[in-house]
Amino acid sequence: MRTVPLNAPIRQLREESALLHAALDEVIESGWLIHGPQHAAFEGELADFVGVPHCVGVGNGTDALALSLRAALDVSPGRVLTVANAGGFTSVAARMVGAAVGFVDVDPVTHLMTPESLSEVIDHDTGVVVVTHLYGAIADAPALRAMCEEFGAVLIEDCAQALGGARDGVQAGTTGTLATTSFYPIKNLGALGDGGAILCRDTVLADRLRALRQYGWSGKAHVEHPHGVNSRLDELQAAFLRRRLPNLHTWNERRREILQRYDAACPPGLRIVGANQDGAHVGHLAVLECPDADLLRAHLGAHGITTDVHYPVPDHHQPPWRDGSVLPVTESFVGRILSLPCFPQLTDEDVTTVCDALTAFRPTELTDVMPSSGD
Ligand SMILES: *Cc1c(COP(=O)(O)O)cnc(C)c1O
Repeated sequence: MRTVPLNAPIRQLREESALLHAALDEVIESGWLIHGPQHAAFEGELADFVGVPHCVGVGNGTDALALSLRAALDVSPGRVLTVANAGGFTSVAARMVGAAVGFVDVDPVTHLMTPESLSEVIDHDTGVVVVTHLYGAIADAPALRAMCEEFGAVLIEDCAQALGGARDGVQAGTTGTLATTSFYPIKNLGALGDGGAILCRDTVLADRLRALRQYGWSGKAHVEHPHGVNSRLDELQAAFLRRRLPNLHTWNERRREILQRYDAACPPGLRIVGANQDGAHVGHLAVLECPDADLLRAHLGAHGITTDVHYPVPDHHQPPWRDGSVLPVTESFVGRILSLPCFPQLTDEDVTTVCDALTAFRPTELTDVMPSSGD
């Protein structure tokens, strides 16, 4: 039986082997390992790519959020508001900086924070709002920013799943006071290990973030900020990322195409979240919404297709974070979402295998399929 993996980094690594070895050679020959020419160049190239003046490389996407929150809360203290269906990264980061977290429900169709859902929770105690451009779909950042401004709050965009995406001509990461991303290997722009970055327009904030990522230093061994950490993007990852960045739009296009093929293959009652959003989606995850995700998962498993759930437990139901929030829409996704294989190196045959299995799905036939699913 053909099998289709959820992810297969090895395919991209093989494809790019010569390119990546050349990057490694360049770093070895330069003698720079931390904050050298590759890192400086990459920061500039990513800032240009997104369309903001400043980019600050950091160790990973969670640190990017934590350092952004630290910098934002310094100028705008208060509670951090975010969604509870986006994997918990902002909740982790907020706790890293000792901030209180409040949860905002999301839109039932797009699964994103909207001005309407934010308006139910935002108040004058809100310091920062973090909007996650989830699954690769782009939220309405300009409208969210306008609402934040009314309440004196700062907007941060988490672009870890949406780098290169735009909505109504507005590039993800250009509206928030700060925007973060992750280069975890399976993100749309992945490194060969961990990495992250913060994007911003404000020069003072960018300098503050550069201090925060390296012991709080203003200059070598001179501490300017009391809450510095060590969170650096290393030279080698920057060199790899520079080789990959020029392909990002092409890869995003391929992801979008896969999403649309899946959506077209869905039988009635199933849909791919955000597939009909045209350009406002970069296909980080192909998330299927269906009445019973466990049944569908067993059916696809029986056809050799690996799936996952992003994310199985909403933040406000995670035992250490339970806070009594009631988020009816977010909670309604539990047991109803399933992520399908979606990455640029999927072959057309892989995609067809998934599409055929989707089209063949009949909830009533599942009793026949399930016993032989083998997992
Ligand atoms: C992956 C991810 C992060 C965290 O990035 P790491 O590099 O794994 O720390 C944060 N936010 C979102 C939306 C993500 O998808």
